[in-house]
Amino acid sequence: MSKKPVITILHLYPRDMNIYGDNGNVQVLVKRLEWHGYTPSVIEYNPEDTLPNLSDIDLIIGGGGQDSGQNVIHQDLLSNGKFFRNAADDGLPMLLVCGLYQLFGNSFTTHTGTTLEGIRVFNTKTIGGKERLVGNITLESETFGTIIGYENHSGQTYFEEPLTPLGLVRIGAGNNTTDDHEGVLYKNVIGTYLHGSLLPKNPAIADYLISTAAKRRYGEFNGQSIDDSIAMRARTVALTRPR
Ligand code: GLN
Repeated sequence: MSKKPVITILHLYPRDMNIYGDNGNVQVLVKRLEWHGYTPSVIEYNPEDTLPNLSDIDLIIGGGGQDSGQNVIHQDLLSNGKFFRNAADDGLPMLLVCGLYQLFGNSFTTHTGTTLEGIRVFNTKTIGGKERLVGNITLESETFGTIIGYENHSGQTYFEEPLTPLGLVRIGAGNNTTDDHEGVLYKNVIGTYLHGSLLPKNPAIADYLISTAAKRRYGEFNGQSIDDSIAMRARTVALTRPR
């Protein structure tokens, strides 16, 4: 029997950055990798752990957290900024949700006025306000079609140069209350405010991350056709929910 090719996921800060079920994104990647015929391997990374070699990693995933969780991981993230900038420049696929999306930008100024320096993977800045942007959210994306999720953040994110948003907001707020952008797609790195978790209801994004990872590692992606009827039913129901 031939050995199944391994895809290694680095799961960033699962202890402190896991809100609204964001760890579910990792479960989806693990399951879909198995269904596509790969062997998933997950490395959890928490502050002060030792990072693996970049060349051993195929995919990076990180979730959201409130300002308090961001404070816990902030120094550690800053000390590893170069690792993540190199990974992004090298085309590594990543998904960063909410709190980590903010800290992968240039800066995040909290609603109390404290500025946390970001690691500058995204040329964005985030400013916290009194208003919380909360509720179900729907986007349209050229790459992924309709994207469905849930947002809850006080930070509003702005591009500091023209960047490609993950999608355009159809229902909800997204990056901020002034433009219709949600998230960012920079090289193969996705930043987004969408929880839910995101990937169970958006298999197209999960398979983009997986196929990009497989092509980088093995030069090709030999995926299987997956029965996504349950995900499609969940999407249909989610689209009928009020904001
Ligand atoms: N602390 C950030 C904000 O409220 C991130 C929130 C989150 O990750 N849900 O803007």
